[in-house]
Amino acid sequence: MAPVVKMTEEEDYLSLLDRAKIACPEITENHERFELPELDILQEGKITVFRNFIDVADKLRRDSTHLLQFMLKELGTPGNIEGRRAVFKAKISPQTINDRIQTYTETYVICSECGLPDTKMVKEDRTLMLECEACGARRPITVRKTSHTESLNTLKEGDIIEILITDLGKKGDGTGKYYDYLIVAPGAVKGTRIHAKITKISAKTAFAVPTTEPCTR
Ligand SMILES: [Zn+2]
Repeated sequence: MAPVVKMTEEEDYLSLLDRAKIACPEITENHERFELPELDILQEGKITVFRNFIDVADKLRRDSTHLLQFMLKELGTPGNIEGRRAVFKAKISPQTINDRIQTYTETYVICSECGLPDTKMVKEDRTLMLECEACGARRPITVRKTSHTESLNTLKEGDIIEILITDLGKKGDGTGKYYDYLIVAPGAVKGTRIHAKITKISAKTAFAVPTTEPCTR
């Protein structure tokens, strides 16, 4: 009887599926990609306030002092922790801070084997190792050398900076210092603080035109 035979085949197939499910438990369990909380950064005049700094350190499960020291070194600026915030004594763009936090996360937190952040730092002899609690992998922590102060302070054409015009050049152009650049801004008035768009750079002299656009750095 054909229909009966068909039923049996279906049952076999279903019981096979059941056994297959038991054989590979939860292998396809989805690990979400590790995501940091959105950085809450505020520029106040000449300082930059990283308002949820401690939250970020907690999320990374790293000591906030360790994270702060890394940031200060990378950003080339003094700063300190105030409550749950970190205060940097320089004007730093949120993008720059975000980049450095990413570098810290890749260097000190994320397991290079499984990509999870469930790691801890351990000292082995004199080497700092990253040990993964999820997969057991271990690797030495190698700190990437960055030319951070250079990239942070290096101007490019199109940048808009805020600058105090401190002097007048020979042709009457307003001039001022931006890190180790001499900024020359035709038409800018001595003693005024302006936004200036960089139009041309020649070694450490940058030409700029006053603008009302917001700063990009
Ligand atoms: Zn791992």
